[in-house]
Amino acid sequence: MVVVITVIEKRIQELTEIINKANHDYYTLDNPTITDQEYDRYMEELQRLEEEYPQYKKIDSPTQRVGSEVISEFKKVTHEIPMLSLGDIFNEDEIIEFDEKVKKVVPNPKYVAELKIDGLSVSLLYRNGELVRAATRGDGVVGEDITHNAKTIKDIPLKIKQPIDIEVRGEIYMSKASFKKLNENGANFANPRNAAAGSVRQLDSKVAASRNLSNFIYHLPDPEDYNIHTHYDALNFMKELGFTVSPNNKKVNNIDELMDYINYWTKERPNLPYEIDGIVIKVNDLNDQKKLGYTARCPKWAIAYKFPAEEVLTKVRDIIFTVGRTGQVTPSAILEPVRVMGSLISKATLHNEDYVVSKDIRVGDTVSIKKAGDVIPEVVRSLPERRVGTEKKFEMIKNCPMCGSSLIRKEDESAYYCMNEHCPAWWQEKLIHYTSRHALNIEGFGDRIIEDFYNLGFIKTYEDFYTLDNHKEDLMELEGYGSKKVNNLLTEIENSKNLSLERLLFGLSIRHVGQKTADILARNFKNIDNLMNASVEDIAAIKDIGMTIAKSVAKFFSEERNKELISHLKEFGVNMYYLKETSDQETLFTDKTFVLTGSLERFTRDEAKERIEALGGTVSSSVSRKTDVVVAGSEAGSKLTKAEELGITIWNEEEFINNLSKY
Ligand code: NAD
Repeated sequence: MVVVITVIEKRIQELTEIINKANHDYYTLDNPTITDQEYDRYMEELQRLEEEYPQYKKIDSPTQRVGSEVISEFKKVTHEIPMLSLGDIFNEDEIIEFDEKVKKVVPNPKYVAELKIDGLSVSLLYRNGELVRAATRGDGVVGEDITHNAKTIKDIPLKIKQPIDIEVRGEIYMSKASFKKLNENGANFANPRNAAAGSVRQLDSKVAASRNLSNFIYHLPDPEDYNIHTHYDALNFMKELGFTVSPNNKKVNNIDELMDYINYWTKERPNLPYEIDGIVIKVNDLNDQKKLGYTARCPKWAIAYKFPAEEVLTKVRDIIFTVGRTGQVTPSAILEPVRVMGSLISKATLHNEDYVVSKDIRVGDTVSIKKAGDVIPEVVRSLPERRVGTEKKFEMIKNCPMCGSSLIRKEDESAYYCMNEHCPAWWQEKLIHYTSRHALNIEGFGDRIIEDFYNLGFIKTYEDFYTLDNHKEDLMELEGYGSKKVNNLLTEIENSKNLSLERLLFGLSIRHVGQKTADILARNFKNIDNLMNASVEDIAAIKDIGMTIAKSVAKFFSEERNKELISHLKEFGVNMYYLKETSDQETLFTDKTFVLTGSLERFTRDEAKERIEALGGTVSSSVSRKTDVVVAGSEAGSKLTKAEELGITIWNEEEFINNLSKY
């Protein structure tokens, strides 16, 4: 027993030291040395141990404190009402638990949901309507006077609309665009939050001014002075005074509405011009808030739901090489499995040799991984400071891992290719792609089946799908293939013959022809013969098709074996025509390129895109001279600025809706 307790006490001490050091690095030096997930894990462990063994809980434990002590050159400021942190939760069950705890004190709570802006909190003090002091949170009681820097932030009014005395609180943050620019210009901040904190804690206000900081206000510490009874009214009041209040705050009446809000912003988060790391949930009624009260560290009437980690640390167990459908050989890291944004990840792409070498990623390394575009996980960086000396340096292979042929690195490309047209790996990938959902959508052909059928000689090329019924008897003899399964596969193949041309074009793995390009080609050429007869110039003349794509398409169709392939597919009855309804009516959208930015209230991104495409327009993700119209919702950021600079037509959401409604 004595031994156990000693061990626990030691662990509590160890965790306290780790967290104190992390706090110092993070809050005082603006330079974190561990990830937020690691920090949160240590904090959770310490909280749990302190709950189980309260006799070892110290009064100055980091679980009882906010932030870190203030040791900078700035004048110190004492907050009359302490600036606290927020409790955090990580999933729906914990949200329900929070709601239940609240309901024990106030029976029918209503909430306000807000975006959790990833910056640092600030207190702004006004006398007679004029800004007299801005201060950081510090350790919650004592903060730093940063008035000189706050005055350089455009969102912070120097004078508000009423000559009153008031304190408001909110978040100073750095937009994604400013953060990117800052690091591109030589700074080395880990994230926009540390960059914002590092910028306001500068003695020379010129530095802060050059960093382009922003601010949202979200808290009125003393609402009763202004006869305000709900948090939402406080937000509106502060907005009327001239503060920047987020337009995305929302009253929610129950957990379902709250979950809708969370789901919406989880999806829309990448489109915001600034980082958010979660959603803050606050009890709306101020009387209810009072009844709920505070802990030493945070209010009991609010909680922060934190998004699942985007970037997580794990170890590289091995580096393997795979051959893709264009013959490209890609290195991938085999990882110690970790959960990233809800899914268990054990493999991540390393892109190509240059990528691995420039990031010096080694077998045995601790690496940071994230889901790129929410789909393919990628290794973002290695952490050389965590090496123990047994890590193995990366070496690119010289021969195809499947067929042994020498790999070729093409000029101007970082990728290596297996050039053996009969390479089984290459072909299997092509066949898998041919059956995929956005290509010929032949259900039932997973990686395993293609591999088996390929090795058994049933399907070696695209044409073989259409003669598969010749092998029906053999197939039914295979283990696990009853007549039902085989008939289903054959029916799927039969159905796939009737799809619109763009799916076939996408399915054929023509270099540089992705789904969108396939769609443009099919829409413009209407049938495969027109496309096959087109010259490079004809193809490149199409809007949104560049020379590289045009050359690749023309080359593909000039090759004898591909001509034969198309002719065989025709014989098998595969449709070669563009089948989508095209409206002859010219619309304001026809042949125009749109870019969507900011958040639209009435549409999700996908809905807006669909509406534009249905009227003949295309949607692109970045603004360039080729853009015709930018549709800007609220909080539109750098894309809007760029569009303004380039003189591109800009529609707000109302104009967008008006123009849609004309058709
Ligand atoms: P927090 O960031 O988890 O949440 C509280 C803060 O959220 C508030 O103080 C406020 O600044 C901010 N906020 C943003 N939008 C808000 C809104 N609409 N309403 C109210 N508040 C809003 O808590 P914290 O105490 O500032 O920091 C703790 C967290 O910081 C940890 O969970 C960890 O993720 C990170 N951290 C990391 C390290 C590290 O070494 N990596 C060290 C210390 C802290």
